[in-house]
Amino acid sequence: MLEHDRLIQGMAVDGHFRVIAAQTTTAVETAREILDLSPVAADALGRAMTGSLLLARLLDKDVRNQYVTLRFEGNGPLGTVIADGSVGGNVRGYVANPVPDDPLLDADSAIGNGSLTVIRGTPPAGKPYTSQILLGGNGIATDITRYLMRSEQIASAVLLGVLNRRDGVASAGGIVIQAFPHATEEAIAAIEQRIKEAPPLSTLLEKLPIEDVVATVLHGVNYKQIDAGYTIPVSYTCQCTRDRALAPLALLGDDDLREMIDEGGTEVVCQFCGRKYQFGADELLALTAKHDA
Ligand SMILES: [Zn+2]
Repeated sequence: MLEHDRLIQGMAVDGHFRVIAAQTTTAVETAREILDLSPVAADALGRAMTGSLLLARLLDKDVRNQYVTLRFEGNGPLGTVIADGSVGGNVRGYVANPVPDDPLLDADSAIGNGSLTVIRGTPPAGKPYTSQILLGGNGIATDITRYLMRSEQIASAVLLGVLNRRDGVASAGGIVIQAFPHATEEAIAAIEQRIKEAPPLSTLLEKLPIEDVVATVLHGVNYKQIDAGYTIPVSYTCQCTRDRALAPLALLGDDDLREMIDEGGTEVVCQFCGRKYQFGADELLALTAKHDA
């Protein structure tokens, strides 16, 4: 069995449907280790991370560095949950409160009611495209489906799964099935039936590579994976830099900066990867000088 995480593509029902699927087990396990996630936080963030990768691939406009950020702001104990995925297979995440008091909560209750903001952009040029929907309370996959319909006019079905075992994340992944406008009623009904009958995705993923998981879910509807040359490796990668870590400090007022200068400098910890950036008093002084200018 292939162990490495990846994004694959396929078609179903004679080209009526486009299928994108991701195996993200290692990336979600890496997030769990870096961010000290409880099982419920790994479940929620793992679904969100997988969703961001699937969306980045689905909405690909032939720009290799396009990214999709999913920002869940709910009233549940996890607080803000952020997942960032790119067409190139980079993904990273953040959970404000990774260890809630009640460990038995399911991922949806742990996020709670609130909003999902979807940001998609192509750095460095271009203004990001932002869209917001209210969380429906029926799971991250359903929220992504609603986003695709409302903001992108794409009819789709989304399946996401994360399986936690005692020693960590045992499996994680997802599938998005996009119905093209020419898909017939019968074809849509057949796909819906397959999705309804499918065993939980995370259980399949624990036993099978993603290629076989998709083939199992979509058996009998003429599913074909596209050339393996389109397979994209996925990894937990943070592209933070010293400059980007400094940027929020530039927004602080002079009083806050002077306090840090008196302390001899400050440290900024990246919320996605834990990398630490030290800034000396001289660099902070330069920021206050800019304010005076
Ligand atoms: Zn980072």
